[in-house]
Amino acid sequence: MNYSVTQFRKDYPDDDVCLDSIFQSRYGDLDTCPHCGVIGVTFYRVKGRKCYACGECGYQLHPLAETIFHKSHIPLTSWFYVMYLYSVSKNGVSAKEVQRHLGVTYKTAWRMCKQIRVAMRQGGMKLSGVVEADETYLGARNKKTPILGALSSKRARAVVTDTASAARTKSFIPSTVQIGTTLHTDESPIYHWTKADYYHKTVHHSIGEYVRDGVHTNTIEGFWGQLKRSIDGTYHHVSRKYLQSYLDEFVFRYSYRDVAAYPVLLERASKRVLR
Ligand SMILES: [Zn+2]
Repeated sequence: MNYSVTQFRKDYPDDDVCLDSIFQSRYGDLDTCPHCGVIGVTFYRVKGRKCYACGECGYQLHPLAETIFHKSHIPLTSWFYVMYLYSVSKNGVSAKEVQRHLGVTYKTAWRMCKQIRVAMRQGGMKLSGVVEADETYLGARNKKTPILGALSSKRARAVVTDTASAARTKSFIPSTVQIGTTLHTDESPIYHWTKADYYHKTVHHSIGEYVRDGVHTNTIEGFWGQLKRSIDGTYHHVSRKYLQSYLDEFVFRYSYRDVAAYPVLLERASKRVLR
């Protein structure tokens, strides 16, 4: 959780160390060469190149291929530093800040931020335990974008949608929340159907009720509040086209708020991504 920049600089002093850590994260478990099939081979770094070769047959592995760092001319130390900033910030990191920190062009900074958000994409296990679900709206008054969200004490999910309706929650909730889970929502009719598949409990905000028998949606409302403050304060404005990637970032931050987020982000970034 408290990962200081001094420690970070010690851990990742140069591009060789950064590349090694990506290689370890991506291929560390590999003990059989995919080319010659020899078991227990060692891959060594090819001097001056961003690749590793099999000690038996020379087959090369390129740890950056198809990752967010693919074909980037930015030093890995700079990428790692921006990921570090993302992992320790509470409200996100703007491209302007990255531009200032690294002395790169705004376009480069913006692209790095976009790629790092790819590494923060949502996925994995469905939410369980006690889950709160709610909807919110982001954007200018005349063109507000609906967002559906759900969170447990450990993880969150949020998606941009075209309309906050029962039809939309019917696809969103079963895809993100384990069937049979305790589900807390407000009285909105878009969640009425969940009674069939979930242990559904409601609070009635319209009559001023915010907590009843431990049932509330305060956590997800706090999450929406933080999201809106961050977008207002750090990002100022997010177009609908990129809103989902910002939601991914905020979901990532919520989900890893109590652990060291940096190793998680580095591990995610070391994986191949679809583009
Ligand atoms: Zn080999």
